[in-house]
Amino acid sequence: MSKYWSKLTASLVPYVPGEQPKDRSYIKLNTNENPYPPSPKVIEAIQAAANEDLRLYPDPTCDELVETLADYFGYPKDRIFVGNGSDEILAFAFPAFYSADKRILFPDVTYTFYPVYANLYGLKYETVPTDERFRIQASDYCVPNGGIVLPNPNAPTARYMLVDQLKVILEANKDQVVIVDEAYIDFGGQSAVPFVAEYPNLLVVQTLSKSRSLAGLRVGMAVGHPDLIEGLNRIKNSFNSYTLDRLALAGAVAAIKDRKYFEETNRKVVATRTRTVEALNELGFRTIESEANFIFTTHPERSAEELFLSLKGKGILVRYFNKPRIDQYLRVSIGTDDEMRQFLEVLRDIV
Ligand code: PMP
Repeated sequence: MSKYWSKLTASLVPYVPGEQPKDRSYIKLNTNENPYPPSPKVIEAIQAAANEDLRLYPDPTCDELVETLADYFGYPKDRIFVGNGSDEILAFAFPAFYSADKRILFPDVTYTFYPVYANLYGLKYETVPTDERFRIQASDYCVPNGGIVLPNPNAPTARYMLVDQLKVILEANKDQVVIVDEAYIDFGGQSAVPFVAEYPNLLVVQTLSKSRSLAGLRVGMAVGHPDLIEGLNRIKNSFNSYTLDRLALAGAVAAIKDRKYFEETNRKVVATRTRTVEALNELGFRTIESEANFIFTTHPERSAEELFLSLKGKGILVRYFNKPRIDQYLRVSIGTDDEMRQFLEVLRDIV
């Protein structure tokens, strides 16, 4: 520990991201990226933006992207917020909506950035147990609290919660902000975005990182009541570095407009997921039902850590979490059919 660290710095346990190997020969199924490239229209738009305007600062209010998203979601512009990835929006939302006096609730097995943000801002939180198949019970969230964060589908479990359940939670928590993190919603789930009209306490956060193949561009978006959007803007505008850059803005607009490409690639990912789960089950794996672009799977007779290491030895990277409750599971991103064939081939030799 450095003597120059503040108390806050000394107390932080930062997030550890999934491995991004320098060696590009790995089949990379460990950080839930999309195996397909972004729409060619995105590349064209980024190239055009690079040739035109990089001399100038970007639009601080990101108007064109906000308008494009308003049109896409069917809401006025004052209900839309954009950020450098959904992680940044979540990082703004915690201090914007939650206070230190009451506990934030989120599931016990979930995206590990939530406790990191809570700690960073000195907020208290409580983790709510999921059942043995990682299901979230709506009634567990109908208790006094200072706010709720729910990923739907959840990560790393891939478990999806029906929107009826979400409605129960929204009804019971009208004085708290409920953040629904829909990073993986486009792979089969039903979005809570339509509920924004009815629930001023609901903020839905999405990203272009997964279903639009743009993890490298860093663009996320949120939909909520104008008061929530203003809260996010107050935090954002208290810094000077947080608007999206010109390339990201141009690429994001093109990505949202190219619906056909988005639907086609998502369909492919979902079809590959179905085939992969069937093949894994034939090998004796038990896989949690997934509505995401990844699966969470366990083998009753094989250690997840050993499987992870064997796969890595054969050039296939998946995610293993050395944590209570989930240390017998592997999280596997859905790759191309060919990548999943190679993944299954390696497993067939081991199990
Ligand atoms: N939420 C969840 C549940 C995630 O898994 C991720 C991706 N790691 C994010 C948010 C952040 O995505 P991004 O910042 O790339 O938009």
